[in-house]
Amino acid sequence: MPRDPALTPLVEMLIEVGRDLRSAGLVTSHGGNLSARWGQGACITGTGAMLGRLTPEQFAVVDSHGRAQAMHDPPPSSDTAIHLAVYEGVPEAQVVVHAHPVHAIALSFDWDAILPINLEGQLFIPRVPVVEAAWQASAGPVAEALREVPVVMVRGHGAYARGADGWEALKWISALDEAAQILILAGKG
Ligand SMILES: [Zn+2]
Repeated sequence: MPRDPALTPLVEMLIEVGRDLRSAGLVTSHGGNLSARWGQGACITGTGAMLGRLTPEQFAVVDSHGRAQAMHDPPPSSDTAIHLAVYEGVPEAQVVVHAHPVHAIALSFDWDAILPINLEGQLFIPRVPVVEAAWQASAGPVAEALREVPVVMVRGHGAYARGADGWEALKWISALDEAAQILILAGKG
């Protein structure tokens, strides 16, 4: 079954967001994952996809249970359950981005919430909660936190952001890492 052409602009947006995440150093070569809400499920990067070098073939369309919908699609990201939990729990979420912003990860070990001191951080993301969960068990806590705030940290692991589109989710992740870097540079970390 050929992929619905209506997916093309969504996939193109996610490819560009992935490139920006990688070039900004917000993920390693093979880290992170991206998705867009699609029907009852999502269109999500495949397992092990390189976010800086995505192609349309590296996305998988999954249903609400995470089952791949097309035989030729790659296996969906191992974070698929987390993305689907966000779409189910947060109606306004159209895109979910997972990245590894290193400054925010460094702060997450000792903090229960990241509280920016810079102006942009205070305006956009005044409080970024840090949830304590093993990666495999983080779907519930991440989705619950994203009902209240646009970006959340999983302690010692990384950030999940939701947006009306990929650019908005990228903005939250970028703002978070900038705020965390400033906290560290200012000696508050
Ligand atoms: Zn991760």
